[in-house]
Amino acid sequence: MLVQVAVPVPGLDLLTYSVPAGFETPAVGARVVVPLGSRLVTGIVIERDTRPVSRSVDVKPVRHVLDSGSFVPPDVVALAQWTADYYAAGVGDTIPALLPPMARGGRADAHKTLRMASITPAGLEALAASAVEGRQLEGLQILSGSPAGMATSVLAARGIAAAAISRLAQRGYISLRHDRVDRDPLAVSVPSPGDRTPGSEWGQRRARVDSDPAPAPPAPPAPPRQLTPEQEAALGRLLALASAGDFRVALLHGVTGSGKTEIYLRLAAAVRGRGRRVLILVPEIALTPAMAAAFRDAFGDRVAIQHSGLSDGERHDQWQRIRRGDIEVVVGTRSAVFAPLGQVGLIVVDEEHDGSYKQEESPRYNGRDVAIVRGRQAGALVVLGSATPSMESYHNAMTGKYERIVLSRRVLDRPLAAVTVVDMREEYAAEGPDVILSRALRDGIRARVARGEQALVLLNRRGFATAVFCRQCAGTLDCPNCSVSLVIHGDGHARRARCHYCNYTARVPTACPLCAGPYLEQAGFGTERVEAEVASACPGARVARLDRDAIRRRGSLATLLAQFRDGRIDVLVGTQMIAKGHDFPRVTLVGVVSADVGLGLADFRASERTFQLLTQVAGRAGRGEQPGEAIVQTLYPTHYSIQLACRQDYPAFYERELQFRRAMKYPPIVSLVNTVVRSRTFAAAMDDAGDVVDKVRGVDNQLRVLGPAPAPLGKLRGEYRAQLLIKGTNRKQIRERLQSALAARPDLQKRVVVDIDPLSVL
Ligand code: ADP
Ligand code: ZN
Repeated sequence: MLVQVAVPVPGLDLLTYSVPAGFETPAVGARVVVPLGSRLVTGIVIERDTRPVSRSVDVKPVRHVLDSGSFVPPDVVALAQWTADYYAAGVGDTIPALLPPMARGGRADAHKTLRMASITPAGLEALAASAVEGRQLEGLQILSGSPAGMATSVLAARGIAAAAISRLAQRGYISLRHDRVDRDPLAVSVPSPGDRTPGSEWGQRRARVDSDPAPAPPAPPAPPRQLTPEQEAALGRLLALASAGDFRVALLHGVTGSGKTEIYLRLAAAVRGRGRRVLILVPEIALTPAMAAAFRDAFGDRVAIQHSGLSDGERHDQWQRIRRGDIEVVVGTRSAVFAPLGQVGLIVVDEEHDGSYKQEESPRYNGRDVAIVRGRQAGALVVLGSATPSMESYHNAMTGKYERIVLSRRVLDRPLAAVTVVDMREEYAAEGPDVILSRALRDGIRARVARGEQALVLLNRRGFATAVFCRQCAGTLDCPNCSVSLVIHGDGHARRARCHYCNYTARVPTACPLCAGPYLEQAGFGTERVEAEVASACPGARVARLDRDAIRRRGSLATLLAQFRDGRIDVLVGTQMIAKGHDFPRVTLVGVVSADVGLGLADFRASERTFQLLTQVAGRAGRGEQPGEAIVQTLYPTHYSIQLACRQDYPAFYERELQFRRAMKYPPIVSLVNTVVRSRTFAAAMDDAGDVVDKVRGVDNQLRVLGPAPAPLGKLRGEYRAQLLIKGTNRKQIRERLQSALAARPDLQKRVVVDIDPLSVL
């Protein structure tokens, strides 16, 4: 029998192995140890071919079958296969999402060794001559059927004890060696304290944070809340959809603070009541504790958490509990869409528009879209929740593919924040060109601090200054590896220049490296500078900063959020991290220092992102008793995404943005695939991308192919990048064309990135 095995090696297709006679037949989803080059690795059986193996086929045998049944449930294997196909990735790329944590290479302890025994020529002779008997004979018989050898642990399991094995070795009938096996991702390992594995989700780009996976102490059950009439109506429709018991997708479009979580809870309880299970996805690790706590109140310890911020041991234990069927609700980030949960009847994707659902490494899947596919497989109701739905989801709702359910008001009739737009051109004219906080924002923060209320101040740009330029030659301080300027972090003696893409770090020179001129100036500003400005504008206020730099240390994000919630911080300055989902009842002012940060980007989603960010951040104000206010500073007060976000008018934004997408042929009007080719020189990158363009266009010229063009981020980590964009209405056709074009250029395999349904084309 042959099996197709996915191995955890980037970009590898399924590999074929034979299952030697005498081995247990592995099920789809079982783990097997297979030889790969000179190593042994643990893979997962994806397909089985029960036809007899023809002698001419030269395939290597599986070394060990680790499970008698499936380890990963077959429906999850099928979901992984779909994901790999759709996103043009290797099935092996999905293994980190399918399985509890595994070491991803490089660490000394990332391997274990197996003691292997194999029969020697002398042993074969002894066997033929019946020179041995008893257990030793049995051992030789078993080993003679396993030319590559067998682990002594497997022999032991078959009754050949260590004593018999060492006796055989002493007599020269078998040889013993140690094989190195990549650490079994699934072995029940007890990690040492602090043992962390880089997860696929946050990678190096984001810090991981503590979360409490232990069951919460039993809380007294909260008295059931009276739902608002709108919540009642929305829940009624969702219950009706759920009771159909088959695949449906509903878009729950509810303004910030409209009480979506309460609806998820009641819907989950109803689905549970019918004997089916519930999967809840949130975009950020930081949002899991609050969501999980809400569900633990209702479901006790039959709630599991899955995300890459858990320790290996925690994640593994939770995963096993889910797989055993002990769990009714899973709360997790995007890879939790692959949780081994049976009988899924409801999948909730909260904040479905959030870019964190997209994985920025292979497989470049969007957790929301995989969730919909899982819902279809399982015959489940999928609820996409958002105050600012993605253009794609809203389009699907408007065209009748999804049910649209609206919550247009906040609970308890709390008003949405009143938004004031400050035209920064007027501010510069009145106060000078270096103003960072407008008079309105400065006064607003001071007033909140004086009243003991809280403020959030958003700037979606890290660092102290964003560029350094020379007064004499106008040269800038750029990254030697990437086509961006270095960002200044810290002030005074602690000042360093750093690249936000490759982490190149340098001392800030005192003279221009190009012309030696002595007049270097800093320009632009980021969150560090805003933090300093707020502190000096409000002496005595407790000001803190929340961005990727501030939370490098594990646990610091949870700590900062807790301090802010407890009122130990008055003003929190930060990047989009502060805009997401959090519920801070004492925040009455949100300031947006520059609404324009994302607008200048050469990305077709720039307006959509700006609209979402502004609406979400304004939604953080006024969630408690006191009404909220938002102050938005901008140089483009008439831009539609800013205007409509200030009015919180999503439908108008959608219509306006759809016109643009239609005119320019972008999603959701067409499907889009972005392909980036990297090379050591600019010319080579352009040539290679051009060749792919020609091959994709083919003779019939059916697809719209744009490029080759230098990618907006033209140089990254020392490599040049050229890009081509393919647009069309038939995604399958695009993918097939592209894959056959790339198949003709195997030399590009390691230098090309294919992004199906990209969120960003930079
Ligand atoms: P959303 O996710 O829609 O922004 P949340 O689910 O966070 O909103 O709810 C906002 C706040 O309102 C939360 O503090 C929640 O506990 C509270 N809430 C939800 N439903 C009700 C209700 N029916 N009555 C009173 N408070 C509610
Ligand atoms: Zn760089």
